[in-house]
Amino acid sequence: MTRMLIVGPPGAGKGTQASRITSAYGIPDISTGDIFRENIKNETPLGKQVKAIVDSGDYVPDSLTNELVTNRLLQDDARNGFLLDGYPRTLEQVHFLDQLLDSKGQKLEAVIQLVADQDEIVSRLTKRAQEQGRADDSEDAIRHRQQVYLRETSPLIDVYRDRGLLVEVDGLGDMDEVAERIKAALAERGIVPVGQRDESVA
Ligand code: ADP
Repeated sequence: MTRMLIVGPPGAGKGTQASRITSAYGIPDISTGDIFRENIKNETPLGKQVKAIVDSGDYVPDSLTNELVTNRLLQDDARNGFLLDGYPRTLEQVHFLDQLLDSKGQKLEAVIQLVADQDEIVSRLTKRAQEQGRADDSEDAIRHRQQVYLRETSPLIDVYRDRGLLVEVDGLGDMDEVAERIKAALAERGIVPVGQRDESVA
């Protein structure tokens, strides 16, 4: 039962690392950004409601995001653990998640923070825009998202640090190296991948 978050500035490689972590630890990768993009692509009512916001790099209102996460965490695959990727992003979302997990008698085990340099990030994101054509990867939107992150999301890091949950990992360098750093940092906290667990203890 591994319940974790991954946080980091736009372009720090959260998505890439999230999918590696989740396959290694046998938990679902729940990316609010992916869920919003999927809804936008499929032109669902939610997608239509959030498209302009997501494209401009602003945050979707907390009420909508919290409801989406509540529903997603009710699905079977999330019962025994999850990695939330891109949520919570505001203090209000932190409080909401606290109450949601409390009400289920669950708690977080770790918050992985990917730390990365701003210049490196801009070059990564510009590259991703060319490769994937994300509408929110224009240079203006990237800058805007970085500002929004600094203002809204970086205060969360302190909250989780104070709770002793923060696992800081250098997000620069090769994707495999970063993945190894994350695994090593989690192992120090006794969180180990599926297959390396001593089942006799569990
Ligand atoms: P990034 O690559 O910038 O980290 P994400 O894929 O996590 O992007 O999110 C893309 C966009 O989806 C955000 O800029 C925002 O508009 C919306 N979004 C994702 N997660 C949240 C959230 N927790 N709260 C509000 N908006 C969100």
